[in-house]
Amino acid sequence: MGESVIPLADLRYAAATPTVPEAPEAPTGLLSDRLGRPLHDLRISVTDRCNFRCSYCMPKEIFDRDYRFLPQSSLLSFEEITRAARLFVAHGVHKLRLTGGEPLLRKHLEVLISQLADLRTPDGAELDITLTTNGSLLERKAQALRDAGLRRVTVSLDALDDTIFRRMNDVDFPVADVLRGIEAALRAGLAPVKINMVVKRGTNDHEIVPLARHVREQFGPGVVLRFIEYMDVGATNGWRMDEVLPSADVVARLHAAFPLEPLQASAPGETAQRWRYADGGGEVGVISSVTQAFCRDCNRARLSTEGKLFLCLFASRGHDLRALLRGNYSDAQIAGALGLIWGARDDRYSELRGAMQADPGSGERRVEMHYIGG
Ligand code: SAM
Repeated sequence: MGESVIPLADLRYAAATPTVPEAPEAPTGLLSDRLGRPLHDLRISVTDRCNFRCSYCMPKEIFDRDYRFLPQSSLLSFEEITRAARLFVAHGVHKLRLTGGEPLLRKHLEVLISQLADLRTPDGAELDITLTTNGSLLERKAQALRDAGLRRVTVSLDALDDTIFRRMNDVDFPVADVLRGIEAALRAGLAPVKINMVVKRGTNDHEIVPLARHVREQFGPGVVLRFIEYMDVGATNGWRMDEVLPSADVVARLHAAFPLEPLQASAPGETAQRWRYADGGGEVGVISSVTQAFCRDCNRARLSTEGKLFLCLFASRGHDLRALLRGNYSDAQIAGALGLIWGARDDRYSELRGAMQADPGSGERRVEMHYIGG
């Protein structure tokens, strides 16, 4: 018998059953929380499984062969996800992002995308539907995803150097396959393609400029590269502040190689600070989740693979939406419950983290990134 310990809490993140109002108010599309933040984005995790084992997200030692991922029966079905999404859209959500785990591991994902693509906002507009992927299956799937109604895609790519990339994904996956996936996405018209690189000081920070150069030279302005500060999400990655490279340093390194000019945010609540290459070579962004928290503008809700609704990436407690979706409740009742949940929201963990213990509330275990999605 191996020594591996299965963390039982993983499958049982605390979740409260939402209160269903007796006389639910009809959604107005203008919901806002206690800090005046609207509900604009919904991130939907479609699987807790991933074929990579990036040490900062799903370290191999914990997510090993004995690890118990969620059983199929716990996962929200496509119909349940679409129903939930429709109710969120009625409350003002305009953007849906499918994530995971690795979302392209969920079978027949195109079917879900085509169901979601049929939804319309209260004023009749199409939704902005996107997906975050490690790119490993993108070459094969890009066209089918586009045909189903996906608009654009974000690919996680932490290094251009094959040795470093294989070491970081920890399953020996070659970088060339991900680069071909990005090309396939561009050919399929999934534009713009965004590439997200999580920067870990001492691990891949020397890849910042080479990756930027490659994107400029090989892909051009249709691909936007963004650098993410390594975050203290979850409880399994052994996060340390000295491994965070502040975005200001990333920008300085880029600027020394390719002069940059600042750009305005393109949408309220946008997570990235945007820059453009002064020579017209396109755009880059930095996401400073650690050094410059952006809770004040956070307009995102997150739906876990098993239908728990989280209002913050750093939450330890969710709201069991699946209990309502599988209970005998009408759309109006569930929408009413969502309205109460968002209306009571006052999370701003990242802004408060300096003043708090590692775990803000009750000593409960913080949710893991692969479970809730990035
Ligand atoms: N498998 C997909 C992928 O690779 O994009 C979607 C899920 S993954 C959890 C979403 C994003 O979260 C990825 O870009 C990943 O690099 C990022 N991520 C995971 N753990 C992180 C951490 N501790 N700090 C910053 N970003 C993290």
